[in-house]
Amino acid sequence: MIQKLIGIKSSLNEEQLKNKLNLFPLPPLLEIFLTTQDYECEAYIEKRINSINQEFPSLKLMLHAPVDSNKKDTIHLQDSDFEFYYSKLYFLCKKYSFILGFVAHPEPKTPKQSSKLILENNIAFLKQKYPSIEKFMYIENLTNSITLKFNTYLEFIEKNNIENVCFDFAHFVSNHTNNNQLQEALNQLNNSNIIKNIYLHISDNIFNNNSPIPLNIGRGEVNFKNINPYLNFGILETISKNEELGEEIKEDYNKIIQL
Ligand SMILES: [Zn+2]
Repeated sequence: MIQKLIGIKSSLNEEQLKNKLNLFPLPPLLEIFLTTQDYECEAYIEKRINSINQEFPSLKLMLHAPVDSNKKDTIHLQDSDFEFYYSKLYFLCKKYSFILGFVAHPEPKTPKQSSKLILENNIAFLKQKYPSIEKFMYIENLTNSITLKFNTYLEFIEKNNIENVCFDFAHFVSNHTNNNQLQEALNQLNNSNIIKNIYLHISDNIFNNNSPIPLNIGRGEVNFKNINPYLNFGILETISKNEELGEEIKEDYNKIIQL
């Protein structure tokens, strides 16, 4: 397991980064969620990442494949243009040791069985074409047919020999019953013979509410004291009222590191 690394998330927006990274002490980890627009200018992402590294040399980075609140521009592993977006993440991880990995979304556009096959084929394709991509790729639990229930998610991960997972609390909690199930899921991930690294999207939520939207720490039902031993590697998934200011994510970060 990697040393304890808990951090926050931001887009590449300069104002947002400046405000979120004025935390003291500086978090050791930052997840950057990208958008499809970030890819439009060939060198843009790399240039911005280098300037973050120059300003904050101790900061480790995780990248998140393009996401978009209205889902139109969220890039999933099943999408026809997945290779363009995910190969770029791979090359950045390979090139810069301060980038630890990237989060990938296994969400079928349709709930059809065939999309699971497409997903498995596309993961196999990436593994074959991009050597060691599995060392960097963290597959997230979402709330679609493959990842809605923890059992099917874990089965999918193990069957496809996926060594890194991104486990999102809000997604899990929205479709499970109680804190015991959450603790048991974390236990199973940690005890898996296949999984090597568990990266967490930390947030609160209300059990079984069918809403995958993360709530701020303390607004939901997650017992963070109980699962504190599992909080080793991950970021706060908090949504701030004003993302550019990031007040809420900074508050939540302080709550979690003071548990
Ligand atoms: Zn995600």
